Amino acid sequence: MIVYEGKAVFEGIAIGKLSVYKKNEETVKREKVEDVEAEIARYTSAREEAVAQLQALYEKAVKEVGEASAEIFEAHQMMVDDDDFVESVESIIRTQEVNAEYAVAETGDNFKKMFEEMEDEYFRGRAADIKDISERIVRILQGNGGEGIDSEEPVIVVADDLAPSETVQMDKDKILSFVTVHGSANSHTSILAKTMNIPAVITCPIPLTDEVDGKEAVVDGFEGKVYVEPTPEVLAEKQKLLQTELEKKALLEELKGKENVTLDGQKINLYANIGNTKDLGLVVKNDAGGIGLFRSEFIYLGSSDYPTEDEQFAIYKQVAETLAGKKVIIRTLDIGADKQADYFQLPAEENPAMGLRAIRICLTRPEVFKTQLRAILRASAFGKVSIMFPMIISVDEVKEIQGILAEVKAELDDEGIAYDKNIETGIMIETPASVIMAEELAKEVDFFSIGTNDLTQYTLAIDRQNQSLDKFYDSHHPAILKMLKMVVDAAHKYGKWAGICGELGADLSLTKEFLAMGFDELSVSPGRILPIRKIVRETDVSAYKAGK
Ligand code: PEP
Ligand code: MG
Repeated sequence: MIVYEGKAVFEGIAIGKLSVYKKNEETVKREKVEDVEAEIARYTSAREEAVAQLQALYEKAVKEVGEASAEIFEAHQMMVDDDDFVESVESIIRTQEVNAEYAVAETGDNFKKMFEEMEDEYFRGRAADIKDISERIVRILQGNGGEGIDSEEPVIVVADDLAPSETVQMDKDKILSFVTVHGSANSHTSILAKTMNIPAVITCPIPLTDEVDGKEAVVDGFEGKVYVEPTPEVLAEKQKLLQTELEKKALLEELKGKENVTLDGQKINLYANIGNTKDLGLVVKNDAGGIGLFRSEFIYLGSSDYPTEDEQFAIYKQVAETLAGKKVIIRTLDIGADKQADYFQLPAEENPAMGLRAIRICLTRPEVFKTQLRAILRASAFGKVSIMFPMIISVDEVKEIQGILAEVKAELDDEGIAYDKNIETGIMIETPASVIMAEELAKEVDFFSIGTNDLTQYTLAIDRQNQSLDKFYDSHHPAILKMLKMVVDAAHKYGKWAGICGELGADLSLTKEFLAMGFDELSVSPGRILPIRKIVRETDVSAYKAGK
């Protein structure tokens, strides 16, 4: 047995034969051509064919792994038609009087190198995409079809790295796991592995030779290890683990498409928390009913300057469109405290958690706030969007926010820009003051979502970042549970809905209790949706209440 260790990017166990993925790499020869215009015409029609192939791949991927993961093929279509790329190919054909295959391969190499040298990790990651599209065009020019894995039985695919078009063209039923020598946690291999729910190990120094090809192996996506020709003991241990995993998965899969309804007919919405658009695949895959918390500050944290209205609009629109009519609750900027972006130039504070953060920044910098509100409102024309405000402590604050929102809406009206005139607005309940004022606040907004992470820190006076206080931190503290009930009751008294979007919402030991309290929604990380649905469907709320 030889054990190779890499980085696990998705958990799970796979047992099967290793199959070294052989790329269909054609050698490209440089050949002189007489008629450069004919060569350019050949290139143009290969480009059109590439776009058509990518469109077909896009449609296949949408069906198999969801809109968000499929988007890469839309991006590839754009790359194929990118002006700089096309100009470069045509100029090589014209000036050097050479064949289109050579010009495309040469341009692909140059662009790939350019991307590889970029500082931004994201762009460096795109070098593989450039290679992917140029190889596709070359294959078309050479009259070659697509590629795939050549195996009758399901295998563990081992590769140097996999381009998105390679992974999507593979027959998913034949893949047990991905193991790659290169690739990053952001690579498409890992994104697709997560979406496909199969284990994946990257940066694994496994040889891509006959030494492993066809051999029996175990991929442990918990440890990030690949056991080639495992000993009978290791094999037996991993088989047991796999069995437990399969049983769990099968049970949860069966719950997809099913309602979140208790045995006695009580319903609850199960939504997902996301930090960026990369999470959308999981939202779809885990059958979330919507997005209950989009932490928009990650857009700001990922920028080196204030994100513009258009940049934000594009992101919110993508989320709204992907969710296709399901609710998307965008929380406005919650920066400050532990989430710092240098360009905000926030003053150093003695007590940042109790300092200038979240809505307080928005109310002191209305121009930043308005830019975000405009972007969210514009996106509301493309789906079902709600706005949520963080760190609220008073009714006055909410009134001030509504005033600013009304100004922004009036501006959009003047400019004739479409938005949802009835956009739902809500607040996070994450300060003790907002709990005490919940009834008054309920009159002003459409919904409450409880941020138990901050609510616990402010109620118990325990810094959520300070690990040395862990032994004092009781997430089930009766004060918190009482507060949750007060908030639901206040919301319902005024006909509003209430949910939880803090981590406590995903605590399976409290699901029954949340149902008994009457929560309308729980917003949790995507992978928690089906386990919670399972409990909901097995609960009889009246019996639970009677037994308390
Ligand atoms: C919370 O405080 O519970 C919450 C959901 O917001 P965040 O964790 O982003 O502060
Ligand atoms: Mg919070």
